[in-house]
Amino acid sequence: MIDNRSSVYDELGVSEAINAAGTKTRIGGTRIRPEAVDAMTRAAESFARISDLQARASETIADATGAEAGYVTTGASAGLTLAAAACLAGHDFSAMARLPDTDEIADEIVIPKVHRNSYDHALRAAGATIVDVGTNDGTLGAVTTDLETWELKEAITEDTAAIGYVARNDLPLEPVVEVAHDHGVPVIVDAAGRLPPKSNLTAFVDAGADLVAFSGGKAVRGPQSTGFVAGRSDLVSSMALQHLDMDAVEGTWDPPASLVDVDSLPGVPRHGIGRGFKVGKEELVGFVRALESYVDEDEAACLKGWDDRARWIGRALDEETALEIAYRNEGDPTAVTRVAVTVDEATVGGSTVDLVGRLRRESPRIFVGDHDVTAGVFTVDPRGLTDDEAEYLVERIVAVAAG
Ligand SMILES: *Cc1c(COP(=O)(O)O)cnc(C)c1O
Repeated sequence: MIDNRSSVYDELGVSEAINAAGTKTRIGGTRIRPEAVDAMTRAAESFARISDLQARASETIADATGAEAGYVTTGASAGLTLAAAACLAGHDFSAMARLPDTDEIADEIVIPKVHRNSYDHALRAAGATIVDVGTNDGTLGAVTTDLETWELKEAITEDTAAIGYVARNDLPLEPVVEVAHDHGVPVIVDAAGRLPPKSNLTAFVDAGADLVAFSGGKAVRGPQSTGFVAGRSDLVSSMALQHLDMDAVEGTWDPPASLVDVDSLPGVPRHGIGRGFKVGKEELVGFVRALESYVDEDEAACLKGWDDRARWIGRALDEETALEIAYRNEGDPTAVTRVAVTVDEATVGGSTVDLVGRLRRESPRIFVGDHDVTAGVFTVDPRGLTDDEAEYLVERIVAVAAG
């Protein structure tokens, strides 16, 4: 509780958290847009068919991204699982029903070695086997690239179902897409955290990616448990078939034609591998409103507002002699400014790890960015903070640093 304001978490006896760490899932991700919350409350008042809501969301995603179609998932991670399932099974009902067993179908997803990460699990959950290709030479500072085109070509075989690619600032996407498409293989892009800049909504689709997964609960500021995939309509249709509730009787099954072309299918499929990732009507409606607002919002003004807050926090922390302030992403007009705080551990009389740990154990808990904490640096991300919380954060950091 700050300023005698009692939160719903306090009512439950759960410590509230001050989020200066950015859009981190483990502390609730983002500050959802008020218009999304309002839409969710109203969605809770009556019913709609989920497939109709997905078809409507598909239009919003297509408009926002320039893709043929889109689909709302329970986070980007679930989006990757469904994307993999679509690339593995296509519209083959028996292959869908067997996943994650992949006997008799191409089941390898080829990924540049430098793009391997914990979210590979999301692709493997559909039944895919990861095959990595290339090197990690970039981390040595070597001049060679981490992936040569010939390496990718040689890794693609008749067992390849897709290429996986993580949107970062290393390997260019276009040559990967070119090789993949030469071999008739789709490319799945994990762009979960690559907003801002908003131009990335269209960038990977423009570069030819077949399916691109984003989080709905990061920069879009939709419901935290949402994500979305933008891409080819045939693959999005396969995702829908493997995700929607399929307790339907043939003849009464009438999903929206834009998502599922019933006439081209042999009947009603079984529940697919995505059935456990259901998205509720409230989340669907909240997500659509959030994405619309995100598309319309003045990105430069938002970034400027966060830059102002970061600098206000930086100046206030700079008053404390044990803390040295720098700014990350300074001068980059498309990125969020973060405060990087170097702790003089001798003056503080303890490690930065201890300091960050002590802030977390307070009530309310205070989360600062801990990526470089073992190097004596913590960061402050301005996006999750109100003005009152920013003031409180500074007060507590200074108090803890002063011992
Ligand atoms: C956040 C993130 C995810 C997971 O997104 P969710 O929406 O939380 O499921 C996946 N990949 C990357 C690179 C991310 O940053």
